[in-house]
Amino acid sequence: MQGQMQERPLLISQLIDFAERFHGDGEIVSRRVEGDIHRYTYADAALRSRQVANALDRLSVPIGERVGTLAWNGYRHFELYYGVSGSGRVLHTINPRLHPEQVAWIINHAEDEVVCFDLTFAPILKAIHTHCPKVRQWVALCDADALPSDTGIPNLISYESWIAGEATTYAWPELDESVAACLCYTSGTTGNPKGVLYSHRSSVLHAYAAAMPDVMCLSAKDSVLPVVPMFHVNAWGIPYTAAATGCKLVFPGPALDGKSIYELLEAEKVTFAAGVPTVWQMLLGHLQQNNLRFSTLQRTVIGGSACPPAMIRMFKDTYGVTVLHAWGMTEMSPLGTLCTLKNKHLSLSADEQLKILCTQGRPVFGVSMKIVDDEGRELPHDGKAQGELLVSGPWIVRSYFKGEGGDPLIDGWFPTGDVATIDADGYLHITDRSKDVIKSGGEWISSIDVENIAMAHPAIAMAACIGMRHPKWDERPIVVVVKKPGADVAREELLKFYEGRIAKWQIPDDVVFVDAIPLGATGKMQKVKLREEIAGYTLPGL
Ligand code: ADP
Repeated sequence: MQGQMQERPLLISQLIDFAERFHGDGEIVSRRVEGDIHRYTYADAALRSRQVANALDRLSVPIGERVGTLAWNGYRHFELYYGVSGSGRVLHTINPRLHPEQVAWIINHAEDEVVCFDLTFAPILKAIHTHCPKVRQWVALCDADALPSDTGIPNLISYESWIAGEATTYAWPELDESVAACLCYTSGTTGNPKGVLYSHRSSVLHAYAAAMPDVMCLSAKDSVLPVVPMFHVNAWGIPYTAAATGCKLVFPGPALDGKSIYELLEAEKVTFAAGVPTVWQMLLGHLQQNNLRFSTLQRTVIGGSACPPAMIRMFKDTYGVTVLHAWGMTEMSPLGTLCTLKNKHLSLSADEQLKILCTQGRPVFGVSMKIVDDEGRELPHDGKAQGELLVSGPWIVRSYFKGEGGDPLIDGWFPTGDVATIDADGYLHITDRSKDVIKSGGEWISSIDVENIAMAHPAIAMAACIGMRHPKWDERPIVVVVKKPGADVAREELLKFYEGRIAKWQIPDDVVFVDAIPLGATGKMQKVKLREEIAGYTLPGL
């Protein structure tokens, strides 16, 4: 027997319609590339996103074709999120931190017809536009009088001129909910980047899931600052969840340094923020140096790479802010797990609670997870067995754009490339990327655990643990570290710091001090590059 409820496709346009109707005066605040602060409302954003849709119609961009963006988090980018996807085109967010050649490769692979960019990135497009023959219209996200005249880019228009004459009404099409809405490329640490094509359905379901209390717990009472970029995995879906909840939105634009973020958090009374550990490290550094406090911030989601326990502790103990440690990836829209306590944990000591809060947390409803051994056999969820993590669910990739890389699934499950344990309560502990795993004397050493201990030392700003070939043990770990400005620690002192914090045989054999650890376009440590940089290094005693 069929259910007798209404069939209504889940569409991204419904999110902005909802925000306009019920949170029309809800504020959206943006720090602009120009440096000033821009303020308007969901109603203004909705109106202008309809103008974007009309501008795309005027260009006759067919339904399903791609519109690229190279832009910071800001109100114009937000309008493109809705105007492009809402009207049936595919929003293709491009990571401007990639090498310009890769940006050109991605624009061509996606076959973008229109590319919208912040002025910060004009030099990239000036260099590559001749290699992007499919792009018919370039749009600079600025006022008419700010349009640069020296780029040599043909068919270049300012965003404000582009939408200015367009009607503010638009009938969003009743699309099939499974059609593509957004395209985001993985960072391509190996080989070319691969495109992940989110659908309207997957994006709306993800928006519901992200808002749940044990996930981001967003509501109309919140003021939300996504530091995570809208150019990578849709700022963890916050632009959609925000419209679904009506929370105040605060966009940081290009200013991601500790001082600028702190000023915005305070001025806009932000209650909830989201970012990768490196950004929060800059923020905490600024607070410590200037003896500052947060007056409104309550919670922050940290993910993208492992959040060091020392950071979780500092946020809580010194600043009274709850860190929600999250794990996910481009292929998962990105939310997989997020860490909050269960009722039965409330009576535990603060230290015991912290131990749980340092894991990557429990699966969000909708995400199924399992860990398997080298033969693909499922391993128990006992918090001890380690294996490759596989996931499935309605906002997890089925195949890559244009079938790149063949069928990525194994019996319907997506292999994440992460190695993890899962405990009986469902808490996930990521120990490594499978390619970074260190095997010593037949046992695994978690590079993340080794890094987290170094990061707990007051003199260390960043740490990368890598395995070095060893004639007897196969591999031995070393830790490559960057000291905090003005701080000092000797090799022996840091090695001693490991004692009692990790099994003796897991303590690194050596410490290598460097000025910087190479970071990729999404802020993750690039261990392959790091190995190249320390080529010629040999383990002590060999
Ligand atoms: P890329 O495009 O480089 O794949 P993603 O942002 O999709 O970038 O990266 C996903 C990967 O980042 C995960 O597979 C995992 O290895 C790592 N990661 C994300 N969040 C965490 C976390 N909280 N702890 C440890 N690793 C994480």
